[in-house]
Amino acid sequence: MSTAHFLGIDIGSLTVKAVLLDGDQRVLAKGVMPAGYGGQEAAEALVAKVLAEGDTRPNEVAYTVVTGYGRVRFGTADAEISEVSCHARGAFHLCPQARTVIDIGGQDSKVIRVHTQGYVTDFAMNDKCAAGTGRFLEVMAEALEVGVEELGSLSQQSRHPVTISSTCTVFAESEVIAQMSRGAPKADIVAGLHAAIASRVAGLAGQVGLEEAVVMTGGVAQNIGVVKALEKQIGLPIHLPPQPQLVGALGAALLAYEKRQTSNVKRETSNVKRQTPNVKRE
Ligand code: ADP
Repeated sequence: MSTAHFLGIDIGSLTVKAVLLDGDQRVLAKGVMPAGYGGQEAAEALVAKVLAEGDTRPNEVAYTVVTGYGRVRFGTADAEISEVSCHARGAFHLCPQARTVIDIGGQDSKVIRVHTQGYVTDFAMNDKCAAGTGRFLEVMAEALEVGVEELGSLSQQSRHPVTISSTCTVFAESEVIAQMSRGAPKADIVAGLHAAIASRVAGLAGQVGLEEAVVMTGGVAQNIGVVKALEKQIGLPIHLPPQPQLVGALGAALLAYEKRQTSNVKRETSNVKRQTPNVKRE
């Protein structure tokens, strides 16, 4: 059995994620941790944890790809690859029918079009404004004094969702506070917030177009309220991978595997090239 293993690390704005694959692209270990300040220390701690869980020594990792917001400051990877490519690669691996990937993370949202062979053909991204991101939900959950992981089930109890009309997070928070003081049920406020996020992301999807199957990745895909609100807005079913938050790190690990194969081929080709003049001289 080959001991060449492959590591994908996704350093996000709120969490770091890592996936370790064996030489047959099977998942040996995976994990998520809060990013803390900058994400570098958390990434190193998570890598150590994942390698221990996967019974892998650092010198058995043949190739490491790092992605995500904090990737440029992580010095020890073999390659940095954009989150767009990593989410597309991971989603396509888990769902080969995927033609559109919607990734909503902590500080940005993206709609990515994927070719039948899995590569990216187009994408649209919102990274300028917190509205339409996980950060927006974090701010609102704090104002409502509920955990971010409770928002999904809470919104499903809503009977009369409120309308949140502000597209700006700061103004939307004021609207939430005003609704709370009017006595609106929390469930109705949360449902209104999910509809507001869904409308932003559907607008982003309009820029690149939507094609089935639609797969959702990123931490916010764990919020069933956002998933359902988005399905309503786009009029298409959304496929959810088992651990959507890990899809970018999985894609990074798969790309690490592929990069290693390509660099082996290149190394073999350059050996052949280097040998050729010798052969001729002989
Ligand atoms: P990043 O890659 O930018 O660090 P993530 O993809 O990890 O972001 O997504 C973080 C977001 O996911 C949070 O802002 C939150 O809205 C959402 N989230 C995280 N955990 C949960 C959960 N258990 N249930 C619902 N939403 C969650």
